[in-house]
Amino acid sequence: MEKLIASDKKFQKAWLFAKLKHQGQKRLTGEDYVCHPLETAKILNSWGLDKDSIVAGLLHDTLEDTETTFEELQKQFGAEVANIVEGVTKVSHIRLKGSQEIEFVENLRKMFLSMAADLRVVLVKLADRLHNMRTLYALPSDKQKKIAKETLEVYAPLAERLGMGEVKSELEDLAFRYAYPKEYKKLVRSAKPHYAKAGKHIRTMRLEMGKALESQSVVAEIQAREKHLFSLWNKLKRIDIEGDFSRINDIVAMRVIVKGVKECYLSLGLIHNTYKPVPSIGISDFIAQPKPNGYRSIHTKVFGPENRIVEIQIRSKKMHEEAEYGMAAHWSYSEDKNSGEVSSEDLEKGLPKPSDKLNWVRQLVAWQEELNDSQEYLEAVKFDALNHRNFIYSPKGDVYDLPEKATPVDFAYRVHTQLGNYIQSAKVDGKMVPLDYQLQSGQIVEIIKSKNPRMPNRDWLASVKTTVAKREIKKAVQTVG
Ligand code: MN
Repeated sequence: MEKLIASDKKFQKAWLFAKLKHQGQKRLTGEDYVCHPLETAKILNSWGLDKDSIVAGLLHDTLEDTETTFEELQKQFGAEVANIVEGVTKVSHIRLKGSQEIEFVENLRKMFLSMAADLRVVLVKLADRLHNMRTLYALPSDKQKKIAKETLEVYAPLAERLGMGEVKSELEDLAFRYAYPKEYKKLVRSAKPHYAKAGKHIRTMRLEMGKALESQSVVAEIQAREKHLFSLWNKLKRIDIEGDFSRINDIVAMRVIVKGVKECYLSLGLIHNTYKPVPSIGISDFIAQPKPNGYRSIHTKVFGPENRIVEIQIRSKKMHEEAEYGMAAHWSYSEDKNSGEVSSEDLEKGLPKPSDKLNWVRQLVAWQEELNDSQEYLEAVKFDALNHRNFIYSPKGDVYDLPEKATPVDFAYRVHTQLGNYIQSAKVDGKMVPLDYQLQSGQIVEIIKSKNPRMPNRDWLASVKTTVAKREIKKAVQTVG
């Protein structure tokens, strides 16, 4: 028997139950159907999730594909497991945007509702999708394409939003070859010599860095990581890259994993002593200043062999686990539940820190009651939840995540709706900018406050990107008429 199953009585019970219920069912790969829930459970286990999630993983298709009832699950495995399985079943038919847009929006609504109730629903769903993507080769090609696009549009961004970088990259690369087969093949061919050349440099660096770290008794695991194909493809399309491989520094990046925070900084010193850091690009210290999704690491760029610029990430073991599995690694959602509002006192003292990583889920759930128009809701979801995020800093060093092309007005409303009502002007990196300025990741934004509250400007609606800003501006403008 599987080691995982053998390790726990409840797992054994769920495994026998699933086997019995799925008896006779086959997957298109030719295997018994029950292999799929087993693999899903193994993925959840590898993310370090709790027993109920793993049990729910084993049972996740019983409600949908077998005669099993909710009551039966509840009686046999408890209410939590039954609720997770039911939630997974409800969100299991997310349709692509297009002819069935209303259905797509409906399903996103359902997904966010169940996420707000129990994040584990979405984690089980992600594990389910990951295994389905790993076995996508068995499906007919029209289905492959559809599922792959849906993965790129919904599940990969969702994984990113939950801080699960590794899962996001794997989903994207699995989907890439089916969603854009021609482009995929072309990229694999053209990237090959570039990966090979970078790989050679990295092997040299690995030895040299190993020696440097050893000289101060720093125990480190040094990894070389090839950039994932899908993100390479996207980067090559950028205007500043123009398809030129030589402009991509991180085609192979290095990662140094050490014991603790102290060793991170010690390693940074030793590495810079071995290779000169690239001055203009500089170091990002996400340990002193974590990203809003909790990501911690030190990033630096150095001149490696033949003056190749190489990116190096330094992190502790714990940070590494968190970066790979994000929310799943510390999904203590219940603890976060009560930390919502910001007091005006906090606002006076400075800018409040966004402590609650899942606020955006709750916001989307709240808005779905207001935004009756499904088009409007879809837009809100796309910008607020599934879009790529930029990290913007306040002058005090607090960091906020905002969608691409967000403006200082978005920033103000993101910090607090009250701050939005005092916007006079804005500075970015110390310089005055117009209020429709499009912010870029890493910039520092200072909102110059007016003495008294001001009416938001109706024209701001044309440039703001976030739902919260749009909503507050509209509300204020409407009350005056
Ligand atoms: Mn499934």
